[in-house]
Amino acid sequence: MKRTLIVGGGSGGTILANSLDRHEFEITMLSSSFGHLFQPALLYVAFSHARARFVRDERSLLARHVNLLHDEVTSINLKNKTVATKSGVLFPYDYLVVATGMHTDTSQIPGLSETNAEFGDYHSSLAKAERLSYHLDGFRGGTIAIGQSSPIIKCPPSPLEGVLLTDQLLRKRGLREISRLIYFTPYPRPYSAEPMNEVVEPLLEERGIEVMTFFDVERIDPANKTIFSIEGDKIEYDLPIIIPPFVGANITYEPSDAVDEDHFVIADKSTLRIKGAEDAFVVGDASNLPTSKAGVGAHLQAKVVAQLLSGHPATFDGRTSCPFDTGDGRGTFVIGSYDAPVIKARPTRIKHLMKTAFQRIYWISLRGTLNPVFDVYFKLTAPKKAAAASD
Ligand SMILES: Cc1cc2nc3c(=O)[nH]c(=O)nc-3n(C[C@H](O)[C@H](O)[C@H](O)COP(=O)(O)OP(=O)(O)OC[C@H]3O[C@@H](n4cnc5c(N)ncnc54)[C@H](O)[C@@H]3O)c2cc1C
Repeated sequence: MKRTLIVGGGSGGTILANSLDRHEFEITMLSSSFGHLFQPALLYVAFSHARARFVRDERSLLARHVNLLHDEVTSINLKNKTVATKSGVLFPYDYLVVATGMHTDTSQIPGLSETNAEFGDYHSSLAKAERLSYHLDGFRGGTIAIGQSSPIIKCPPSPLEGVLLTDQLLRKRGLREISRLIYFTPYPRPYSAEPMNEVVEPLLEERGIEVMTFFDVERIDPANKTIFSIEGDKIEYDLPIIIPPFVGANITYEPSDAVDEDHFVIADKSTLRIKGAEDAFVVGDASNLPTSKAGVGAHLQAKVVAQLLSGHPATFDGRTSCPFDTGDGRGTFVIGSYDAPVIKARPTRIKHLMKTAFQRIYWISLRGTLNPVFDVYFKLTAPKKAAAASD
């Protein structure tokens, strides 16, 4: 039996654990959390009062033969092939898969911790998303400033989804005429990839949303309700919706150059092997791969690692397919891969329905039972075909 340690019980770790053959692998999962949050729901908790059951017990999502232990991993020694935890246990492994995701870090920007504690956000936790929803409920007109404070983001369309859903919410409540909506971004255009920007920019114009590009948040002055950028601009707000910077898990690696300065694990972009290690892999948001941080990527990467661990050839092609709710019951997908740049795909009602439907099948998808359906979807929407189909 191959002793396989999976660190992290989120999307990537769970799909991988459920994909490995129980006759071939002795699987132990170490996770610092008990509950698995369906993170895309944070958007709907914040902007449309969604209150379904978005957290499930991690144990309930795993095949029975997976040994789940709740403990925080503090260090990983890739040379000795051991993992140490906060409670003082040392785990040896034959194979290791890191799936520790990433989390927000408000301490990087002066003034952000206070601002975030007061107003919340829709990328950190359920409690923070509920806090933001509470402030949106209390908003009676004025300026809402919304955007990402650093380039690394979960699901690249999510900042724009936030601004478009805010616009929809204000219109519904009859507040749009007495409100300014300002979208700020560190990128030179509203959507960083040009083909998708051609879809997004007219949408923002049509809805009267102001855009500030090249806006890297430097600091926030909560007393004077102002956000300052490194480039020297400022935005005065009544309600700030600021997506904090993200960092990888606070784990010490040996050798230390297996992670970058923000604690993202450095890996081969095709084989997902951690730098300098033959038997250690990374999946999902925890890596520094040049692709979108999204559940879809975590899923595809988990499948690749499952194949490699079983001795079958497999490579990750950087494929992504991020659903993008553009408001008013329409949606689109951001589709691309390492070799195929993001395509231009217009919003439709069907694509919005697909996003909504996924929320219903997410928990089942973690079991791996829907893989054949996803395989067909990915084949049909492979970047070249999708470009032809959508334009
Ligand atoms: C608003 C929003 C909208 C989104 N929309 C979409 C979407 O539409 N489509 C899409 O595909 N993706 C979307 N995503 C992104 C998606 O949810 C994440 O990319 C995905 O959950 C990442 O999976 P993961 O397994 O890498 O990490 P996670 O699911 O975050 O899991 C990380 C796990 O690691 C554990 N862990 C962390 N540190 C340690 C440690 N030191 N020791 C032990 N365990 C540890 C955690 O407890 C957790 O169990 C969205 C995210 C947000 C916030």
